[in-house]
Amino acid sequence: PADKEILGRATWTFLHTMAAYYPDKPSAMEQSTMKSLLTSFSQFYPCGHCAEHLREEMRVEPPKVESRKELSWWMCGMHNKVNEILGKDLFDCKKVDERWRDGPSD
Ligand code: FAD
Repeated sequence: PADKEILGRATWTFLHTMAAYYPDKPSAMEQSTMKSLLTSFSQFYPCGHCAEHLREEMRVEPPKVESRKELSWWMCGMHNKVNEILGKDLFDCKKVDERWRDGPSD
């Protein structure tokens, strides 16, 4: 695609927000649906080498879909791996809810 950065920002917004609103206690069906969503996503993400890398990371560290907290934490870790490769600052994963769900507390 013409703009990997715009696509990336939009996609991370979608992924982190989806994780932030995933159920605290997902049913077995919800867990398997989320797993297949992420697997399918990594197959069709329209940046070939990004998708390739994501699939590799998902083999090493499979998605944690047992709860909202675990999925949010896992997604943060995935994003940090990409940040690291791109030479960007790492994000403090304790702040994912503040960033993607609750907003600043003041
Ligand atoms: P982004 O990295 O897009 O982040 C957006 C916002 O998310 C940040 O402003 C911050 O508030 C928040 N944030 C940052 N880190 C975290 C975190 N760990 N957890 C939660 N929130 C966070 N680009 C490439 O050039 N090469 C690649 O191989 C590549 N792979 C990618 C793989 C995937 C699955 C995705 C979705 C994107 C990929 N990108 C890749 C794009 C890249 O990650 C960035 O989206 C793009 O460079 C724009 O960066 P940005 O600095 O605007 O912030």
